[in-house]
Amino acid sequence: APIDGIASAPLAKAAPRLNLLEAYRQREEGKPRLNLIVIGHVDAGKSTLMGHVLYLLGQVPERILQKYERDATRSGKSSFHFAWVLDATEEERSRGVTIDIATSHFETPHRIFTLLDAPGHRDFIPNMISGTAQADAAVLVVDATPGGFEAGFGDHGQTKEHALLARGLGVQQLVVAVNKLDTADWAEGRFADVRDQTAAFLVQAGFRADHLTFVPCSGLRGINLATRPDPATEASALTAWYDGPCLVEVLDGLSAPERLVDAPFRLSVTDFFRGSLTGGPTAGVAASGTTVTATGRIASGAVQVGSQLELVPGHEKGLVKALELDGETSAWAAAGDTVMLTVQGIDLTQYSIGSVLCPLQQPIPTTTTFIAQVVVFEVQVPVTQGFPVILHYQSRNEPAYISRLVAQLDKRTGEVTKKKPRHLPKSSAAKVEITTQRPICLDTFERSKTFGRVTLRKGGETIAAGIVLRLVP
Ligand code: GDP
Repeated sequence: APIDGIASAPLAKAAPRLNLLEAYRQREEGKPRLNLIVIGHVDAGKSTLMGHVLYLLGQVPERILQKYERDATRSGKSSFHFAWVLDATEEERSRGVTIDIATSHFETPHRIFTLLDAPGHRDFIPNMISGTAQADAAVLVVDATPGGFEAGFGDHGQTKEHALLARGLGVQQLVVAVNKLDTADWAEGRFADVRDQTAAFLVQAGFRADHLTFVPCSGLRGINLATRPDPATEASALTAWYDGPCLVEVLDGLSAPERLVDAPFRLSVTDFFRGSLTGGPTAGVAASGTTVTATGRIASGAVQVGSQLELVPGHEKGLVKALELDGETSAWAAAGDTVMLTVQGIDLTQYSIGSVLCPLQQPIPTTTTFIAQVVVFEVQVPVTQGFPVILHYQSRNEPAYISRLVAQLDKRTGEVTKKKPRHLPKSSAAKVEITTQRPICLDTFERSKTFGRVTLRKGGETIAAGIVLRLVP
């Protein structure tokens, strides 16, 4: 394909070549960033909890909260105003209104968090798949209300499915907010009961017990969220038996993810438009269609103005003309950053959501067959060889089928319990071979946590989720 303007592009020569590794190290001496996802059964109190945390951490101006409080009271849902912090913003965001509440970020003394998905969504699973594939940690909210916990934890509840999905997608650190404990008069026995049942399930699902933390709290009352409970208040019943950390302290202590900054550059495109950053979407170059601004999160490596890239699939080549990070122009960006990149030389028609920008000569692999380790969910029929599925990876999906059942595994240890099983029952773990109709961009989980996670769905239900072990040539 012709690469107009690349060879003679003045920027390619003029741009200073930065030592990106050095620049990155200097910047990261500050606080590590973590991507956090909030999961749990509908009505467990996810929105209320996170909205309240954002408020307590100063992310929501008082006057905005007062407005939500008034609106909520007027609509007869007075307890909902913290949830509105998240939901209302979602709506405003979808209308493209500029917002002055930073609901997608919050900061603790030692960490900066990006909330991957506002938890207000009803149909959560599809969002969760794309969100969880990026998560470094998850907050699982469980409703400790008598009956509420049981509803969320039962066969039709979402607690288990969300937790399995998070684990299947490689999330290792899980904070369990034992929420609404105010409704159980802060009874230690209730907390212990919910904790023990949940822990037993999570360990069986493959989480390491020492990677789980249980925090008793009330999202609505704001108790044990950003500060430890005050014995002089209604929370005295809690302080009588609990002297552990509050939720924000636990979040602050999560392990920071390893950013693969010296691995090859990978940016999965989540959005794109014709034109350049500086000139806006309808800049003069638009007619040619080869100046495109792409948005996405850098999964690994680093990039700078003047870098040459190729877009996979298609392998067309382009040059980075401008870069924007956190709303400001920047000379470079690295793993973990969400950026806007203006790239010249690749036609708009080559882009699609989920295309991957890579360095020249170091493209992400494409494949049609790979081996994955998966957890099977509450499936109606057993999974057999030839089982057709929709394969979700990154923000894309593709028709596929399970071409081979390699082995059934012990859910906890991952050891083979049965070779070449005839079928996979529900709630099992397995190694399977998956085949797609068309080549897709994928990598092993070992090399890329971002490109190495997959989810299998069928008929609107999640069948299994897992990580890519090996690409079959
Ligand atoms: P989500 O669907 O998980 O996001 O749940 P919401 O945040 O929308 O909350 C569901 C309902 O539970 C709302 O009526 C909340 O007011 C209520 N709720 C949330 N947190 C608490 C809590 O800590 N204590 C009590 N008593 N109610 C709560």
